[in-house]
Amino acid sequence: MKELQIVYSNNYLKYDLGEDNPISRDKTGKFLRFLKEEGSIPFRVHEAPKATDSDILLAHTERYLNRVRQAAINGVELDPDTPVNLETLEGAYYIVGGTILCLSLALEDQRVVNIIGGMHHSGSYFGSGFCIFNDHAIAIRKLQKEGKIEKVTVYDLDVHAGQGTQEIFYEDPTVLTVSIHQDPNTLYPGTGFDWQRGRGAGLGMNINIPLPPGTTEEIYLEALDSVLEQTRSYTSDMRVLLLGVDTYKGDLLGGFRLEQESFRKIGERFRDFHKLAVLFGGGYSRKIPDLWMKFLEGYLGVPSHIV
Ligand SMILES: [Zn+2]
Repeated sequence: MKELQIVYSNNYLKYDLGEDNPISRDKTGKFLRFLKEEGSIPFRVHEAPKATDSDILLAHTERYLNRVRQAAINGVELDPDTPVNLETLEGAYYIVGGTILCLSLALEDQRVVNIIGGMHHSGSYFGSGFCIFNDHAIAIRKLQKEGKIEKVTVYDLDVHAGQGTQEIFYEDPTVLTVSIHQDPNTLYPGTGFDWQRGRGAGLGMNINIPLPPGTTEEIYLEALDSVLEQTRSYTSDMRVLLLGVDTYKGDLLGGFRLEQESFRKIGERFRDFHKLAVLFGGGYSRKIPDLWMKFLEGYLGVPSHIV
């Protein structure tokens, strides 16, 4: 088995949105310790670099960046879920840098995970839902600008629809976005409907698959298999997977009913993918390390160690 590449930085821990915010826990650090103790997956850690302002501006407006900076200095909120101060802003730059590195490693066909990322609620001109900068949109644009890639497919499996990613790529014919999420009539962000298919040159490049609250593994995997089949023939230079584990039945925010074992099955479905960058995104339950581990076992083809 190829060694797993993990992108991480202690600077990620600065991305702490406060005591009562679900993103405040040290999910990433705990997971690294867990992976080490568990011992079944050989891995190497790559230090995430800090992104620059010119990176940020590949997917965000200058006006938004100025607004974020001002909000950070004043310690105010971008929206009620998204407070920002100088510390969290610093963390956000490292998450973006980490995702850029993650995509670059994936392009070399490494098996690679950035253990925080997929900030899909942030759009070109707004921050929302714990997300300040849209790291994967920035990373895609950066590799495109450097001429390393042209076409990309983004699979977003977070329980929430990524309205930011949708907005950024809505008219872009080079990025196919596929999102399976809870019916937006029943969950934040209230958008991500199946009729939202893109616009202009990007028409047909935005695929939303909303599923009802209470969705079980069977229904979920059927939807996933169907969309993977549907998009298989689309040639992209690389793929990005946003693995939200807030689809788990015990999640505090989501309303799906996936089992722990479902994440191994999801991982298995991506095992044969080449040039895949995996971003560990949303998840708000005590089970997070187990769920991420399950995914990795399926993805890497490692026998299961967790019950
Ligand atoms: Zn989510």
